This record gives sequence, C-alpha cells and structure tokens, in this order.
Amino acid sequence: MSRFWSELTASLVPYVPGEQPKDQRYIKLNTNENPYPPSPKVIEALRHAANADLRLYPDPSCDALRETVASYYGLGKEQIFVGNGSDEILAFAFPAFFTAAKPILFPDVTYTFYPVYAQLYGLSYETVPTDERFVIDPQRYGAHNGGVVLPNPNAPTARLLSIHGIKQILDANSDQVVIIDEAYIDFGGQSAIPLIADYPNLLVVQTLSKSRSLAGLRVGLAMGHPDLIEGLNRIKNSFNSYTLDRLALAGAIASFEDQAYFEETNRKIQATRERTTEALAGIGFEVIESQANFVFATCPRRSAQELFAELKKRGILVRYFNKPRIDQYLRISIGTDEEMDALLDALGQILAEA
Ligand SMILES: *Cc1c(COP(=O)(O)O)cnc(C)c1O
Repeated sequence: MSRFWSELTASLVPYVPGEQPKDQRYIKLNTNENPYPPSPKVIEALRHAANADLRLYPDPSCDALRETVASYYGLGKEQIFVGNGSDEILAFAFPAFFTAAKPILFPDVTYTFYPVYAQLYGLSYETVPTDERFVIDPQRYGAHNGGVVLPNPNAPTARLLSIHGIKQILDANSDQVVIIDEAYIDFGGQSAIPLIADYPNLLVVQTLSKSRSLAGLRVGLAMGHPDLIEGLNRIKNSFNSYTLDRLALAGAIASFEDQAYFEETNRKIQATRERTTEALAGIGFEVIESQANFVFATCPRRSAQELFAELKKRGILVRYFNKPRIDQYLRISIGTDEEMDALLDALGQILAEA
C-alpha cells in the first residue's frame, strides 16, 4: 500500500502467473509451455529480422502477419486482430465488448485472469457452476448477461466443449459477444473459427505461446466479424500503436509457414499426453479427459498440496491451486517423454513412501 496509489490501484487483486524460479533448474511442468523448441525456421526469421531496421517502428497494423493468418484460416484480413500475447487481446476485448450494467458469464473453474480484467475495468461478472467432473453445461450460458468468455478446452480442467455446445451458447447470446479462448485448441479440439461466418457475436482468441512454442515471443490472435476486430482496434489505438515488435512479427509469420513442424510437435505432445494419462491412472490418479497440453489429475490417497511440495523437492514443478473445488488437483503440463518419465518415477516414489 502506498499513499501515491490511486483508489483503483489499491483495490486491485492482480493475476498470479505460474512460478518461473531462478534458484535451480527444474523440470518445468507448471506453466503449459511447449517442451519442444520453436521451428528452426522461426529462429532463422528472427536472426534475419535482427538488423538495422530495428531503428524503425514496426507496422502498426501488422498487415503481413494478419494476411498470413487470414490465408492460414481462410478468412479475410479484416477478420484478424493480433496482439502482444492473447492476454493482451483479452485485456482489450473486455472493455471493448462488456459493460458494468450486465454481468459477463464464465465457468466457476476457469482461467483466473478473467475476473482480474473484469475488476480492472469495473465490469460485473458471474460464475456458472460446472458439474462435479468440471463439465460445462451450455444451457446455463445466456439469459440477462452481458457476454460470455470461456476457454475451450477449459483451463485448468483440460475439458473440451463440443462445437454443438458452443453453437448453443452463441444462439442464446445473439445480442452480446461470446469470446472463445482457444489457447489449447491445437492439441486435439475442433476450432470454432468456421462459426465466424454465421455468428457476428463470436470472437475466437488464440495464442502462439502453447502449440507453437513461442511463449517468449508474445503473440496472440483474435478472429471474428470485422466490426469486432474494429472494436479491438479502437481500444488498441487508444492504448499503444505498436504492440507487436519487428521480431515478433517476423517470427510469428515464419511459424505459420512451417506446418510440418507444427504438426509433428503437436502429434508428439498428444501421444505423450495419452501415455501419461494411462500411467497416472495406473498409480491411482483420476485424470480428467484432456484435449490440451496438460492434464488435471487428483490422487484420492494423498493431498495434492503435499504431492506438489514433494515433487518440488525432487526438482519437478507442477501447478497447484489452493482454491475451492480444485485444491485436491494438480495441473501437470505435458513435457517430453523423458520429463514425464521423471515425473511418474517421482510420483511412484512419493506414493510408496506414504
Ligand atoms: C496461456 C493462456 C493464455 C495466454 O496466453 P498468452 O498468449 O501467452 O498471453 C490465455 N488464455 C488461456 C486459457 C491460457 O491458458
């Protein structure tokens, strides 16, 4: 607390990202980063872009990247927005489309940045209960609310909602914006992007941080009706004209140009996920069915908080949320096969000692 803080600053409860510890080298399975490096073509593009042109501002409308994304998804350039990570896009979307008068709806167990944005802009929200296995019921989204936001697959539960379910939500919210946060869609889910043609109220948000191994580059995407994209641009251009730098633009374009590498690394992660899910079940965990690059698992025999602490002692970081409903679960990012073997060995030892 400082006497110099505004009332708003003093009232905020900021988002807390997963640990990025500096005390030792950990097997990091706590922030859903991709265990594989970015495509070599991305690194090459970054080297190439590190030149004297860095004295110049980047293109404020990010045309080349938006054209690349548009042709990748079969959309028009005017249907694409790009930002400094999808978190920034969400931070623009909340004030662009939501108000204080009617609540934004999102699941009770979901990405914890949503209530933080709502609070920052003085917007109201309500959480909608998921069932005991964290399944989202689309029929509960839409009545007198002012919009909807939800990740698909959901985080941290990894559960996928079907396209049919998303359509139900869009139909029930035809007068307000529905944001589908597809941070993990490339790991086995079906994207809602084809629905954009029929639903002017749909904004699909994606990121290069997870499936494209570029968390360090900070690039996010949003796709939707040109009016929604224009709304995002109005907020962006009232905030910062140059949210993506020259390196980020060059690296992001190169990533979309190496489809083979993208498919190969995603296939490996999904295979490792299936193997890890079976192995965890084999040592007594209950694992929620995952279509993401992480699993959400509980061990009825042992407290999740203890497991988290014991794993950390052994140099393995996973994510633990000390929150109602999920405080018996661990969220475990899918690493390489070797990393998952180390995790499974450590869990086996910890459980044997109990
Ligand atoms: C990781 C994540 C994001 C943020 O991604 P960035 O593009 O790195 O900002 C957004 N939403 C969800 C649900 C995520 O898990």
